[in-house]
Amino acid sequence: MSILVFGGSGFIGSRFIRRWNNHSSSAIINIDKLTYASDQSNLNFLTKDKNYFFYNEDINNKNNIREIINKHKPNLFINFAAETHVDNSIESSYEFIKTNVLGVQTLLDLFREYHHLHSNELNFKFIQISTDEVYGDLQDNDDPFTENTKYSPNNPYSASKAAGDHLVFSYINTYRLPLIVTNCSNNYGPNQHREKLIPKVIYNALNNKNIPVYGKGDNIRDWIYVDDHCDALIEIIKSTTEHSHFNIGGEHELKNIDLIHQICDALSKKMNSISDYKSLIRFVDDRPGHDYRYAINNNLILKNTNWKPSKSFTEGISDTIDFYLNKYKV
Ligand code: NAD
Repeated sequence: MSILVFGGSGFIGSRFIRRWNNHSSSAIINIDKLTYASDQSNLNFLTKDKNYFFYNEDINNKNNIREIINKHKPNLFINFAAETHVDNSIESSYEFIKTNVLGVQTLLDLFREYHHLHSNELNFKFIQISTDEVYGDLQDNDDPFTENTKYSPNNPYSASKAAGDHLVFSYINTYRLPLIVTNCSNNYGPNQHREKLIPKVIYNALNNKNIPVYGKGDNIRDWIYVDDHCDALIEIIKSTTEHSHFNIGGEHELKNIDLIHQICDALSKKMNSISDYKSLIRFVDDRPGHDYRYAINNNLILKNTNWKPSKSFTEGISDTIDFYLNKYKV
């Protein structure tokens, strides 16, 4: 048994590989194009592992990926490869469509071909990692997103992810393939690129730079510790569930500005500093089309697997700040 991970050198993929490696002795094959968002040092702990294989490859390169599949004969496929930064998608959505839509279609066709040839031999699963952003946004009194919430993406990133998910659902319906889509809320934790909110706040605070906050900072996100997300994926892989669609959330909604205040206060404490990092906060023009609130209803995954989120936000954010304090060498 081996697992093929696409996009394993990014934030969540690298944490998933770490968790999977603790959980299973199966071979891990990581295919990643190594975009600016990746960091191979996230996987340094595996460089001497004979059961780990890395290929620097674009998921759109069908023939090369077919060769890798035929060489390693994985039975589990999990796709984290994506363009992920909303602000970049607003600048230009071209790379988002190439990877998040056409790339997904390439992987689905390869999986279909491979499954057709080997379906009697192995227990297969293909998991497509998606986001809660595909559902659009919520107002304060709206119920959290369930798996039945209609997709209503509001920016080019979420539209590209929604298109990828729709392809997966269509392949399930048309070809009866063992495909699963997971829609997770905002992840936080080690290994995230500095362009994203939490590492950016920490980096800017430590470097005495302004901390930009969109609008009034009142947008709400549902935060999950990245390892809780990865453990949910492992439970889905292990389970015999017939469901092909799961939401995953941290059950911790927070306004951006409250999150930023918490980080600033925690930094002052950890650094024994008299600096008021909050004085660096600058409210800037809101992101165009900025979704107000996301929130996840976890009922389906709680009922059908052994998973529940286990890391408290207080502990998770403290560990996360420690990681970036060390990374940014303070
Ligand atoms: P990331 O940007 O940190 O990592 C993406 C990885 O994919 C990088 O290593 C990159 O090199 C690789 N990649 C990009 N294009 C590729 C291509 N064409 N071929 C091969 N590899 C390619 O992203 P992340 O935050 O780890 O997100 C992973 C997945 O989880 C994405 O699908 C994202 O939509 C989803 N997701 C993220 C969050 C979050 O809060 N970060 C929340 C929910 C869902």
